[in-house]
Amino acid sequence: MPHFVIVGAGECGARAAFALREKGFEGDITLIGGEPVAPYERPPLSKEGLAHTAEPKFVAALERYVEQHIDLRLGIDVIDIDPTTKVVTLAGGEELGYDKLLLATGASARAFPGLGAISERIRVLRTHADACALQSALHLGQHIAIIGGGFIGLELAATARKLGVEVTVIEGLPRILKRGVPEEIAEVITERHRQEGVDISCGETIVAVEEGADSVVIRLAGGKIISADLVLVGIGALPNVVLAEKAGLALDNGIAVNERLETSGADIFAAGDCCSFPLALYGGRRVRLESWRNAQEQGTLAAGNMLGEWSSISAVPWFWSDQYDLTLQIAGLADGATTLLRRDLSDGAFILFHLDDTGRLLAASGIGHGNAVARDIRLAEMLIAARAHPDPEALTASHIKLKSLLAA
Ligand SMILES: Cc1cc2nc3c(=O)[nH]c(=O)nc-3n(C[C@H](O)[C@H](O)[C@H](O)COP(=O)(O)OP(=O)(O)OC[C@H]3O[C@@H](n4cnc5c(N)ncnc54)[C@H](O)[C@@H]3O)c2cc1C
Repeated sequence: MPHFVIVGAGECGARAAFALREKGFEGDITLIGGEPVAPYERPPLSKEGLAHTAEPKFVAALERYVEQHIDLRLGIDVIDIDPTTKVVTLAGGEELGYDKLLLATGASARAFPGLGAISERIRVLRTHADACALQSALHLGQHIAIIGGGFIGLELAATARKLGVEVTVIEGLPRILKRGVPEEIAEVITERHRQEGVDISCGETIVAVEEGADSVVIRLAGGKIISADLVLVGIGALPNVVLAEKAGLALDNGIAVNERLETSGADIFAAGDCCSFPLALYGGRRVRLESWRNAQEQGTLAAGNMLGEWSSISAVPWFWSDQYDLTLQIAGLADGATTLLRRDLSDGAFILFHLDDTGRLLAASGIGHGNAVARDIRLAEMLIAARAHPDPEALTASHIKLKSLLAA
């Protein structure tokens, strides 16, 4: 009986395990996760889920792993891979042979330089345990300082405001969401946070973070001092590559895989947040995505390729973020775009189309209340996948349906 081992029981690893069964694999599957909880969804951790942390939103009920004969090992790390003998070693010394191996080790929150590990009052948000610790420390009237104006920090800011917590966001760059989000959309989000009472300071350099018994003091280069009950460090995530590196696999901003999610090691695949891959849609540009849908899609793709389907990555990158009643959605990659066109939708929602100098649609970013931009972003995604050069006037004219451009 062939044995497939999946390291990392997150969105991607769990998806891959179920996809193997859906695709008819009858061999043994072992899914190993370092966290002590069954695979769960991370997006709710910074959103509504933070207020209901008792139990995370599970990817699947535990019984489903049993039904599908997936041997789920939780709370244990894989510490070594021997690609020659095809054996993984678990913490504690147990060894498991594999026929095919999937690394779905995800990413870890980046620590603030010089601060080292998390402490009582200085926290990160990546895991259910992080969310529980944060939630229990967030009380009405307290003050949280968030280092980093990225997605996780801003989502947490919105959630904390709903809990009645005072929030200061400190961003080093001249504006929030500088990477990947157009200025016009970042302005809408900034304005919304300010309306809700969040203090956002951009272009700041932090010179010291000092943790005391009752508070944390953040000293800024201009002399300003911010004192908070709690600090959240939200400055991005780093791919978990230690295991792959030890095994001698090629790395390149994550575990380097080809378009079929194969690593440089025989019969070893990698998928999700931990890997970087070439995107044919963008001239083979190597990217690493940290996105829920990507983790799901690559889990399924990896499962197929472990079974010999040999499909290539073709999905358009897609990401969403919820803050208050606003939802941001981004499809595609905007790098290389020279033109930005705006399409207004109802109720203040709008979409920005990013085109290159040949007029090809590279990406679309939209913001609005609830699902206001979802349909048009979905259609834009299809145009992006088709490498379309849509008529710019039609893109901006909201009475012309994007669907008609697809047909064209
Ligand atoms: C707070 C938060 C909010 C988010 N919100 C959004 C959002 O709104 N929209 C969106 O598109 N995306 C969002 N994301 C991103 C999305 O959740 C991730 O892209 C997705 O979880 C990646 O899945 P993954 O399985 O690749 O990695 P992970 O979810 O990181 O899972 C990897 C797992 O592998 C385990 N592991 C690592 N090394 C080992 C080892 N050696 N042995 C055993 N186990 C190991 C880790 O402990 C972890 O449990 C959010 C992420 C966070 C943290």
